[in-house]
Amino acid sequence: MKLLTLGLLISNLFAIAVRAQFPEPNGGDLERGALPQKWMTGGPRCMEMPEWQVHEYNADFYILRQSGCTDAEMPFLYLIFGKDRGLLWDTGSRNGDLAPTLQRVVHLWLERNHRESIPLIVMHSHSHEDHVWGDSAVQAIHDPAMPITFIPAKVADTQDFFHVAHWPDDTGEVDLGDRALDIIPIPGHDVVSIALYDRRTGVLLTGDSLYPGRLYIPDFPAFQASTERLIAFMRGKPVAHVFGNHIEETSTPFLDYPIGSIYHPSEHVLELSFGTLLELEDGLRSMNGKPRRMAFRDLTIWPLLAGEKGLGAKMEEVEKKTNATQEHDKWNQPQ
Ligand SMILES: [Zn+2]
Ligand SMILES: [Zn+2]
Repeated sequence: MKLLTLGLLISNLFAIAVRAQFPEPNGGDLERGALPQKWMTGGPRCMEMPEWQVHEYNADFYILRQSGCTDAEMPFLYLIFGKDRGLLWDTGSRNGDLAPTLQRVVHLWLERNHRESIPLIVMHSHSHEDHVWGDSAVQAIHDPAMPITFIPAKVADTQDFFHVAHWPDDTGEVDLGDRALDIIPIPGHDVVSIALYDRRTGVLLTGDSLYPGRLYIPDFPAFQASTERLIAFMRGKPVAHVFGNHIEETSTPFLDYPIGSIYHPSEHVLELSFGTLLELEDGLRSMNGKPRRMAFRDLTIWPLLAGEKGLGAKMEEVEKKTNATQEHDKWNQPQ
């Protein structure tokens, strides 16, 4: 009885410890940031749209979003600065032309900080085309103000650079100078998928493994194990926001934009919470090893079943059709 009471006490204390992220409701010493009311997508008039939207989350953390007028994937990129180095998460999708925007932002940051140069690490959330398309253009930048260390989207390179002892069970780390970032391998959506935790802002980047949209899962067991490892790693750490690579949901619960849409006039917000990660894990577990499609308020679990390459012929047909309509409408989208 005594042992049981002690056991209960310990487990209660543990429960409190893992949930109590800060002792007071004032955000502790996390560095704050701001998000826009609305992100640009692909319209209503493509003639008026910049190729990239640059958003200052705070003075050392920038979010870049590719316009839907250039590619329906409209990925988000993250550019984070420490005292000694900067880090770029992904290089954008087809027709993204990232290099000039990247150079402009880094030069403005240098001007703002009265500095001549800053080395830049260019790395990837994973290897899919909509996140590595700008690789060669970024590698071709030879700017003494921003010497680039390029990490190819491959397991060996990612593991080496971030010192991940055993892939995917161990985590890695990089210090940008007074700014430690944790790298958590989360294969499942892709073999080289990773998450990144920025201890300074409490932001967790999850790539294509968690975002408000359709979470495509070619390797279900790996994805479930990764989700569980990510949760275990994040337990007790403050999470201000979970940011993924895309938005495909509308602002209406359980409703997404058709595959291939370039214009999202009423889009879901980018930011998710640690709670969404728990919800994802719960959904995966509830399938008992039998993957199936399952829609939640903010996302859809979308396993790609054996023999199904990519989305499958039916979805590709939908994508083509949507693309063609939106391509036609892109100069003046119906309101
Ligand atoms: Zn992907
Ligand atoms: Zn993607």
